Amino acid sequence: MALQFRDTLSGETRAFVPLSREQTTIYSCGPTIYGPAHIGNFRSFLFADLLVRWLRARGQVVRWVVNLTDIDDKIIRAAAAEGVEIRAMTDRWEAVFRADMAALRMSTPDVMPRATEHIPEQVALVEQLLANGHAYRADDGSVFFRIASWPAYGALARLDPEAMRVGERVESDEYSKDDVRDFVLWKAAKAGEPSWETAVGTGRPGWHLECSAMSMRHLGEQIDIHTGAIDLIFPHHEDEIAQSEAATGKTFVGTWMHCAHLQVSGDKMSKSLGNIARVSELLAAGADPRALRFALISAHYRTSLNYTPDSLAAAGAAISRLDAFQTALRARVAGGIAGSGDADASAQTIAASSWERFARSMDDDLAVPEALAALFDLVRDGNRALDAGCSGAAATAMLATLEQIDATLALLPAAAELPHGAAELLEARRAARAAKSWSDADRLRDELAALGVVVEDGRDGQRWRIGGVGE
Ligand SMILES: [Zn+2]
Repeated sequence: MALQFRDTLSGETRAFVPLSREQTTIYSCGPTIYGPAHIGNFRSFLFADLLVRWLRARGQVVRWVVNLTDIDDKIIRAAAAEGVEIRAMTDRWEAVFRADMAALRMSTPDVMPRATEHIPEQVALVEQLLANGHAYRADDGSVFFRIASWPAYGALARLDPEAMRVGERVESDEYSKDDVRDFVLWKAAKAGEPSWETAVGTGRPGWHLECSAMSMRHLGEQIDIHTGAIDLIFPHHEDEIAQSEAATGKTFVGTWMHCAHLQVSGDKMSKSLGNIARVSELLAAGADPRALRFALISAHYRTSLNYTPDSLAAAGAAISRLDAFQTALRARVAGGIAGSGDADASAQTIAASSWERFARSMDDDLAVPEALAALFDLVRDGNRALDAGCSGAAATAMLATLEQIDATLALLPAAAELPHGAAELLEARRAARAAKSWSDADRLRDELAALGVVVEDGRDGQRWRIGGVGE
């Protein structure tokens, strides 16, 4: 099956063909950097990361832009409340965001542009829209997009343009505009707020404008894929389409992909419920970043993800199974036993079919649950082949598949986390258990413990972890 994605605008699942063979362009709406990102934000960013990783695994050259919103009403209010300069505050939260990103193994985007560093591009877009009649200046000097001039408005969110009462954000009270639906492109300067002196007046850009301007600056007037959380469909992405296409006369985005909500124990995350789970706080409290990544990517991106107190533990158990399998494979590769013909044949089949299933699932609009099922079938059947005495060469084939899959999922430990000699002891213990030599297995467990490796026996064979002091 060819690679296909569901496009929010058309509502169709379509074969994905980038505009250029040279490069696939992806823009993802990034964080507003005035506080710590929560797991709902990161669900959306990690979905985009999986998309980028998968396209790269499929051989595409991807250029990925994730913007940083560093000026808006919330940021201005937060900096004022703290009594700090806006730039000092946004620098601090950008650093936290980047640390969270690295911990959760999100690929580093090719560009992470800041809105305040792209004022000329935003001003140019406003000038263009004023010139071609899609924007107008209000009495106070603010500039609005004229929705009546853009009949396609509402197509992404499937709104009825006549019935809708949109744009009823803060500015609808604060600025005079011709039509309540119109949205602000440029906000005239107000006392106590940052502003820029520009060709379209002294003021600051509206939030929607930055994504169109930065996308065009770094990826061109037309891009292949635009991602974001579903709550950005309206008005943010609807406004992006209108202002971009009204300015350029070209289709702005080939495929719109939106990530569904994350709930916490069945509720929406909200300040009032006090259930906002922030990534930096979870990590500081000792959450395993790989388990958190697993928990956040494991549902299909278009289905709601329910995060519960058990999610991390379940994800941690899944990660342990992967770690144990990788260790066992490496040990068998190092051990170089002759192997049995039947076990080798089944290991080779498992290695090939697991990759095919994984790839087919990911090609089908990033069907991660099915892709994970293929991965854990590889673990289960691969462990059986190991128990049945497959050779080092057969283990090499399964290890290659495991690592090929992990280039997209990014769940396995960084290399060389086992102390020297431990892999061989783990392999010897697996063999002892298979031969029901329980006293040998116990002795090997003690030898591993002396190296700091704690071994536990589970459904899929032995698992290990690096033990702490006193364990
Ligand atoms: Zn955006």
